[in-house]
Amino acid sequence: MHPTLADDLDRLPALLQSARDLAARELAGLSERPVVHLDTAPGRTGLPAGGAGAEGALERFAERWAPGFSGSAGPRYLGFVTGGATPASVAGDWLTSAYDQNGSGSAGSWATALERETVAWLRELFGLGEAHSGAFVTGATASNTVGLAVAREWLGERLGVSVSRDGVAALGPVDVLSGSPHSSIGKALSVLGLGRDRLRQVPVLAGNREAVDVDALDAALTGLRGRPAIVVANAGTVNTVDFDDLRAIAALKERHEFWLHVDAAFGAFAALSPAHAHLVDGLDAADSVCVDLHKWLNVPYDAAVQFTRRRDLQVAVFHNASPYLGLPTGEPDFVHLTPENSRRLRALPAWFSLMAYGSDGHREIVERNAALARALGVGVAGVEGLRLLAPVRLNVVCLTLADEPTQERVDALARAVAASGETFLTPTVYAGVPGLRAAFSNWRTAEEDVERVLAALVTASGQLERSPVG
Ligand SMILES: *Cc1c(COP(=O)(O)O)cnc(C)c1O
Repeated sequence: MHPTLADDLDRLPALLQSARDLAARELAGLSERPVVHLDTAPGRTGLPAGGAGAEGALERFAERWAPGFSGSAGPRYLGFVTGGATPASVAGDWLTSAYDQNGSGSAGSWATALERETVAWLRELFGLGEAHSGAFVTGATASNTVGLAVAREWLGERLGVSVSRDGVAALGPVDVLSGSPHSSIGKALSVLGLGRDRLRQVPVLAGNREAVDVDALDAALTGLRGRPAIVVANAGTVNTVDFDDLRAIAALKERHEFWLHVDAAFGAFAALSPAHAHLVDGLDAADSVCVDLHKWLNVPYDAAVQFTRRRDLQVAVFHNASPYLGLPTGEPDFVHLTPENSRRLRALPAWFSLMAYGSDGHREIVERNAALARALGVGVAGVEGLRLLAPVRLNVVCLTLADEPTQERVDALARAVAASGETFLTPTVYAGVPGLRAAFSNWRTAEEDVERVLAALVTASGQLERSPVG
């Protein structure tokens, strides 16, 4: 064994203690560190030949790189839809590495049985029935890709061909219909060979909405003259957190043949809150469902879950058995269900968080985040230089400048807000108007954070008025 490696083995408990000390220090100061760093990262150094040892690596990391890491796990990082990591999930994540299990199959370890228990808990959390089976993947994009891969196989079944054997060409052109799909749907369609341009955007409801017009969807399906299709329903759009009427869409199956995939990446968490659960009414009727976990469950990257009612088709797509051995039977190992073969036990951090806080604890996070978004919405509406672009439906505040919300001025607002180090919001264009989104999904965020975010927005928009851009 390399002497430095042997030395680290001897000193492993001390090394873990040092890493723990750094992590504890960083997490204790997370709320007060700048939310983002806009300065450039240091230049690269060469590959070390003689290693520094783990303690040396820790020192160099703390010195050179840690100072530029963002506070995205903290309470006022409101860009995209970004959760943090609950205390229990961090502990679970550390142990995932310490145990270093391969979650591809059950041979010789109980690890995959733990993943199955976690999936069953999540299914219950989101109000899905036992007909849905699930597996962990790396994120909502991967989850959407798996769901649409099963949809693709289902289209083959309807048309009497096997896509997993004969290839996607056997299908001919495929119709994918959606109201306000997330950008990752186009990516998934590209990966799956279905084609980004086969995604047809169906009109949305009038009146500042992102939810699909179900009558328009009905008409679009009628236009297919019986050709089976894929419908991607959106349960929580990223701009304004609008929800498709899932029940009404599912009811269209009485007259049309389609696979219903629901992208509920963060919107599925509405199911935890009695006041908001109606937004995902009908989720169980989906043929496949995507839910992100590194967002609103507040577990570390990278974790999401995918659910489907057709595990048989999922196995047809993803099975890794030799053809002459036939398809796996009974409860298939995860190796036969997702794109990976070897895989990290990413269920463990979620298991820890669900065991530690239960559905009540996670409901409290969702409800608090929604209340804080409402509070910021009220605050923004009361600021002269700002206005809301849409009502606050769940956990996102979509806002812009009251006067001349040009791209240039809104970009300048975003830069000024980020430069304050107080908060971070990401840009969007909504109903043709450039704006910013503040998304609440972090377990740490409190009322005082909303006050600081609002103050940063007021200051930044005030600076704009004194020196207008463009
Ligand atoms: C975040 C998000 C995705 C993509 O999630 P990743 O975890 O970044 O892959 C897909 N759909 C919706 C609605 C999202 O909010």
